Amino acid sequence: MWPFVTTPILSVGDKLRAGADLVMPRQLTEADVAIGAFLRRRLGDGVVRKFADPLVGGIYGASVDELSLDAVLPSLRQNEADHRSLMVASLAAGRQRSRAARAASEGSPKGPGSPFRALAGGLGTLTDTLVERLRAAGADLRTATPVTSLADHSADAVILAGGVASSAALLRADLPDAAAALGGVPLTSSTVVTLGYREDAFAEPPAHHGWLEAGPAPISGVTVSSAKWPGRAPSGRVLLRAFVPARLGPIANAPDDELLDRVLGHVTGPLGLRADPELVRVTRWSGVMPSYTVGHPARVAAVEAALAIRPRWRVAGSALYGVGVPDCIADGRRQVVAAVGA
Ligand SMILES: Cc1cc2nc3c(=O)[nH]c(=O)nc-3n(C[C@H](O)[C@H](O)[C@H](O)COP(=O)(O)OP(=O)(O)OC[C@H]3O[C@@H](n4cnc5c(N)ncnc54)[C@H](O)[C@@H]3O)c2cc1C
Repeated sequence: MWPFVTTPILSVGDKLRAGADLVMPRQLTEADVAIGAFLRRRLGDGVVRKFADPLVGGIYGASVDELSLDAVLPSLRQNEADHRSLMVASLAAGRQRSRAARAASEGSPKGPGSPFRALAGGLGTLTDTLVERLRAAGADLRTATPVTSLADHSADAVILAGGVASSAALLRADLPDAAAALGGVPLTSSTVVTLGYREDAFAEPPAHHGWLEAGPAPISGVTVSSAKWPGRAPSGRVLLRAFVPARLGPIANAPDDELLDRVLGHVTGPLGLRADPELVRVTRWSGVMPSYTVGHPARVAAVEAALAIRPRWRVAGSALYGVGVPDCIADGRRQVVAAVGA
């Protein structure tokens, strides 16, 4: 409770309003709702604007006022059902985490460690290793070879993992209802601006992991990759990433030089920068991030119902059951079992 009471991010009014959650009756009916609407009712607008939207919206690339409670944060529904108050639920979860962390750190001098995980050699090693292992196991694996149609393929099972748009396009000829239901999942975009600096470009090199923006800004946040994970930059260098999701408006589609000007103009002050970056990369992820907006569980049910005619054709990956890499891996495994076991 103490961090909540003392944080300068929330005003006294925000805190008093959030405290109403402690005495408020349960709010949810069975219908799916936007995360923002639910949290605003329970905790007030301050918590939504200053915490929920930057945190949840930052991860999902959409506003909490659009995102589905049941698809994105079903645990909140469970919390309300179990504890009525989200604060009471959060305190109970905190106590449980502390107990688990104490148990995990017993005998380990390093304690429970960072909650942020990454592969030591970068995320690319995941796909590189997969390719290596599949080839070693004798798989006929064709990379850089787009699948343009499912006709003329004889296969025991088909698992589409190319994303919402690609899977919908491939399903259209044989399973138009599945394609239409899948096509109902909105897609959003994000641009990542990667900046590399010498340490002496900073008044003091950042030791923090970055920040999220809660107010109007040309970025949704910054990750100091070289501070967050080891091995991300050579010694004496600092690697940063700034995120510009489509939800921030026209800035997300601005040409590279304008985008860069705006981003650098915004981060230079807070980072204490006094020199230009040595390395700049602008990476645009256009129309590839599914947004699980209100009604997503019904869209998932419609896709599943339409796929049922071909039980060995499955859709895997970020399209339906979670956008995080661990969700995608778990879904891949589930869909293989479903396709092969059908
Ligand atoms: C900027 C950004 C930051 C993110 N940060 C994180 C994070 O920190 N942690 C986290 O867990 N998740 C993060 N995510 C989300 C996560 O990266 C994605 O949800 C996940 O990678 C999706 O995996 P996937 O296998 O479903 O699809 P993808 O990784 O998009 O893979 C689909 C592949 O299929 C290929 N393909 C498409 N169509 C065809 C076709 N017709 N024929 C052949 N190949 C085809 C594509 O080229 C692509 O290689 C982030 C996403 C973005 C955009």
